[in-house]
Amino acid sequence: MQEQIEKLKQEIQSEDVSNKELLESFRIKYLGSKGAVKGLYKELKTVPNEEKRAAGQLINSVRELAEEIFNNQKEAFEQGPSEDYSSFDWSRPAQEFKLGTRHPISVVRKEIIDIFSRIGFTVSEGPEIEDDWHNFSALNFPPEHPARDMQDTFFVEKGEKEMALRTHTSSVQVRIMENQKPPIRTISPGRVYRNEAISARAHCFFHQVEGLYIDKDVSFADLKQTLLYFAKEMFGDKAEIRMRPSYFPFTEPSAEVDVSCSICNSKGCNVCKYTGFLEILGCGMVDPNVLEACGIDSKVYSGFAFGMGVERITQLKYQVNDLRLYSENDKRFLEQFKSAF
Ligand SMILES: [Zn+2]
Repeated sequence: MQEQIEKLKQEIQSEDVSNKELLESFRIKYLGSKGAVKGLYKELKTVPNEEKRAAGQLINSVRELAEEIFNNQKEAFEQGPSEDYSSFDWSRPAQEFKLGTRHPISVVRKEIIDIFSRIGFTVSEGPEIEDDWHNFSALNFPPEHPARDMQDTFFVEKGEKEMALRTHTSSVQVRIMENQKPPIRTISPGRVYRNEAISARAHCFFHQVEGLYIDKDVSFADLKQTLLYFAKEMFGDKAEIRMRPSYFPFTEPSAEVDVSCSICNSKGCNVCKYTGFLEILGCGMVDPNVLEACGIDSKVYSGFAFGMGVERITQLKYQVNDLRLYSENDKRFLEQFKSAF
């Protein structure tokens, strides 16, 4: 029996186990329920009692050898390819590599920036935690304005030095006006915060792009032309805009701007509520009080400002009807924007 076992050991050591199929055959041949090791244990019954102990030990050593080879190789396969590529199939298709996608808000934000940079607007950024002066006072918000209420704004600090999460990116424009001499032509994209109950139509944070243009002789006609250009670039050449009088503390006169509904070609559908138009932004001529508060002579300079919600533009462009989808990180939603640049 000893001779038989030595031969078996040599055979085991010379087996080719260089791929998973060969390793599995190896396991069946030696360690399986009908394998060679099991066979040896069966034969043990026929060995005389006084030799059983020694023979048992020999058979154990065969089992251990086969198990060691099997386990080592199995582990090597689990850890990935070894240095030995001799049995590697080079024609095998590569593993799928999944590219990520840009978030729809980033896609549209970038598009808005591209459109305005083509007509000379620079990009400005500012802090998300803002003091009262930059968020409210410099922008002509009276002390009793409802936006200053705890119900509407997240205050970080109340009292002498009030600090809040900015409610709009107009605060960036104040900082620009304080630090730069006209002509100023800039947009400020960024995240803003409002104390709102979260629903399909409202969220406690969203993204804005606000624009500011200040120079000598800037008129309402310049504002209208700039926004018409934007609408055509964003929604297509057939896009039209209409302006409705409105009120904002920091602009005078002020208007809200609607763009023609591209879904129904202004014929009326449930998205535009059968009006043929969709609201996209607010705008106006910068209030002289705001210019003066920021150290700009309102008798020499005039300017316009506008602000839009990136979520709103994205909603219109991609027909997203629930604001919450943007921050849920659901891949089924995000992967739909694969083709967007
Ligand atoms: Zn419509």
